[in-house]
Amino acid sequence: MSDTIIKFDQVVKRFGALTVLDHLDFNVQRGEKVTIIGPSGSGKSTVLRILMTLESISEGIVSVDGEPLWHEERNGRLVNASEAHLRKMRVQLGMVFQQFNLFPHMSVRRNITEGPVKVLGMSRQDARERAEELLEMVGLANQADKYPHQLSGGQQQRVGIARALAMRPKVMLFDEPTSALDPELVGEVLNVIGALAEEHDLTMLLVTHEMRFAREVSDRVCFFDKGKIKEQGTPDELFTDPKEERTREFLKAVL
Ligand code: ADP
Ligand code: MG
Repeated sequence: MSDTIIKFDQVVKRFGALTVLDHLDFNVQRGEKVTIIGPSGSGKSTVLRILMTLESISEGIVSVDGEPLWHEERNGRLVNASEAHLRKMRVQLGMVFQQFNLFPHMSVRRNITEGPVKVLGMSRQDARERAEELLEMVGLANQADKYPHQLSGGQQQRVGIARALAMRPKVMLFDEPTSALDPELVGEVLNVIGALAEEHDLTMLLVTHEMRFAREVSDRVCFFDKGKIKEQGTPDELFTDPKEERTREFLKAVL
């Protein structure tokens, strides 16, 4: 088992003429809590979407737990991944989106149990028990029979977190999980994510504009600019003593 759980190796992502990731090198270690910050359009969401297999890559190699994500080995050569390979790889990661993305026609319970039952082959009974535990953990015990529209944004996002965790992912990805919320609901979601960050074994990759929160929960902060890591370090290094002019400008604007 390698200690590197996510690895981007010289990854290029283009949309037509637009280069969104520009020979990106980026690693996350097992158990590490990493935050990505940076201006809008710098490629932060694209990194997460590539990991969830929602976007392909143009060049380079992405690996998850030592195995190529967008490629697979055939006859000793790396070829483009098959749909079966992508399916096998994508369940290793869980993602929480900015727009909660719950299934609107399913109860909270069903939102959480559907993946484990359909994809992991868990029994409905086990999946239900696990859902109860997870709902308790995100502070939503007794809400299992509600439908998404009956919940506040903050509650929906906490269901989103429970749903992702139900798949027992190796890595949890969060893409600006609080930026669609009314300000008074941000705290309850950050509290849940903060509690998760205390779990030693869980690997977390988080995109956020909540700088104070990033500072509290991260082992490492990466500042993205134009599809590359412009600067990275511990929260103290990056927030207190940024080396790059571009990082200083960005922090001045958001802090
Ligand atoms: P960030 O999350 O840092 O704001 P994104 O990764 O979402 O940035 O996007 C990076 C750039 O890629 C932006 O300029 C965005 O408009 C562009 N982009 C993202 N997705 C697509 C797409 N499907 N087609 C074309 N351009 C896209
Ligand atoms: Mg984004």
